[in-house]
Amino acid sequence: MEYKVITGTLEAKTAVHIGTGASNELTDALIRRDNEGQPFIPGTAIAGALRALLTRLAPRLGKTPCNVLNVNKEQQSKPCNCAVCNLFGDINPSDENDSTSEASRLLVFNAHQQDEGLSYHPIIRDSVGIDRSTGTAARADGIKFDLEVIPAGTTFKLRIELRDIDNAGEQLLAAGLSEWTEGRLKLGGRVARGLGSFKLTGLQYKTMPLDNAEQLMSFLREDKPWKNANTSDGWFNEHLEKIKPVKISTDMPETISRGWFSLQGILQAEGPLLTNDILSVGTSGFDHAPALSQLHNWLNPVLTGASLRGVFRSHAERLARTLTTLQAKDKGDFLSRCPACDPNVREQDKTSKLPLESCDSLIKKYNAQANNKPEKQIDEPENITDSLCLACRLFGSTRLGSGLIIEDAPYHQSTNSQSKPEYKMLDFLAIDRFTGGGVDGAKFDALALWKPAFRLNLYLENPEPWELGWLWLVIRDLAAGWLTVGFGSAKGLGKVGLTNWKATFGYLHPEDAPLGLIELNLQTQKCGIYTTKTITLNTDKKFDMIQKWVNCFIDEVINFQRLDSIILTEDSYFDDIKDIYSDKGGAP
Ligand SMILES: [Zn+2]
Ligand SMILES: [Zn+2]
Repeated sequence: MEYKVITGTLEAKTAVHIGTGASNELTDALIRRDNEGQPFIPGTAIAGALRALLTRLAPRLGKTPCNVLNVNKEQQSKPCNCAVCNLFGDINPSDENDSTSEASRLLVFNAHQQDEGLSYHPIIRDSVGIDRSTGTAARADGIKFDLEVIPAGTTFKLRIELRDIDNAGEQLLAAGLSEWTEGRLKLGGRVARGLGSFKLTGLQYKTMPLDNAEQLMSFLREDKPWKNANTSDGWFNEHLEKIKPVKISTDMPETISRGWFSLQGILQAEGPLLTNDILSVGTSGFDHAPALSQLHNWLNPVLTGASLRGVFRSHAERLARTLTTLQAKDKGDFLSRCPACDPNVREQDKTSKLPLESCDSLIKKYNAQANNKPEKQIDEPENITDSLCLACRLFGSTRLGSGLIIEDAPYHQSTNSQSKPEYKMLDFLAIDRFTGGGVDGAKFDALALWKPAFRLNLYLENPEPWELGWLWLVIRDLAAGWLTVGFGSAKGLGKVGLTNWKATFGYLHPEDAPLGLIELNLQTQKCGIYTTKTITLNTDKKFDMIQKWVNCFIDEVINFQRLDSIILTEDSYFDDIKDIYSDKGGAP
């Protein structure tokens, strides 16, 4: 018998929210705390993330797919004997006589903060939507929501005990952990909006023989037996080297891992940049002040993933709607083909027409109507993706998560070691939106960052060519300095450009690589179990590949048709302007 354990450190790269579902008078969502009031990560959350990851990876390592991936709902709930269920125990343990339900062979412990690690106070974040017509932060109720987070930089102790796992099981585990050591671990809530990104460091696999009474006694006497166990250095790499991902086959479920796209770069502001954070406002006394990574740490401002995501999405929406407007014959044609709703537009009122009403709101209204007619009990459409616009499919909606992640962007210290963030105080006169005149006495001051730079980290799992094409058009405009971040774009604030970018594509098998990538003949590298290729501004001939993706995006938009039941009722124009629609149709 042997005691086997894996230990390591989970480093939060961004702020993290692992919620309790509870709120108090300070915040809408509280984080989990232990008996001593210290934030921690529940073992169940870590095990859940690991299970989901291994479920998507296992078929690519030649294992039978888990029943949960089966499209047939009945099959999903059947007890399963796949490699993942062998590690974690059955999803649906059954008491039937012939059942082979198994308990978990992996014990994932709660991860508490490291005694020797840096400890930060939890902070409160608010998130605000972007108003599509004015480009400013939307103020409507219901869009604003705040939550408590553990700051970036906090470290937690990871411990997983292994019970009776065979070599193949350990190899699968190593494959999953390699994703974490490469920094692709996401835990907790609001992951797509930039929170909950982790990297696993200091991974160790340790064993302790328990063959005789003496060894067993010393093991039992020990409070923390993993501290004295023997480290086997080669465990991780030896397993990884043996992994050869298999080709995708038609009988594999759609949701399994194929590859990813990641973009890193520096967002450089041309001048003042003004974001707003309730906590900084509270501690600084300014009416507007930027979000900070840690409480009172003015050396470490952060551009939240949520705000960047809003900027990406609203620009992407505009590109897609413009394309459809050029194609549309008339207003009705536009409304039934509009590829991008405005996720902030929703209303309880079941009869009013709302410009660019969100898919979420439309589906709700449709369901309410359908349920009023007893002979036609209709729930949500069978396949939720079909009922959503293209923007909701890529950027997510309340009904469908998103594979696109835009992380909190930390402050970038340029090579010049003097480059601490510079703050400037600005005075504003609030403008009355209706008259255009100054509002009496309504002056406000703001603490803006002067020419700050932030590190952008964007990640998309299993990218489709049309998604890459769409994102690339946004990235291109971002690099050209056309997009603004934060408040005051009308006053010339928040202009940013993207520099020093690097786009990396990871794939398990060459057939999983994005359209046109293999033909570029770039050098390959390894990143965990993925093969990667990287392009930068200087990469030759990359535009042939990008043009292919953009063409896929254009096709996707042109052929897009909303479900009959979920058609927009209004577009964003105040009146019907006939001239904006093409009378001929056809490609622009
Ligand atoms: Zn299974
Ligand atoms: Zn939508």
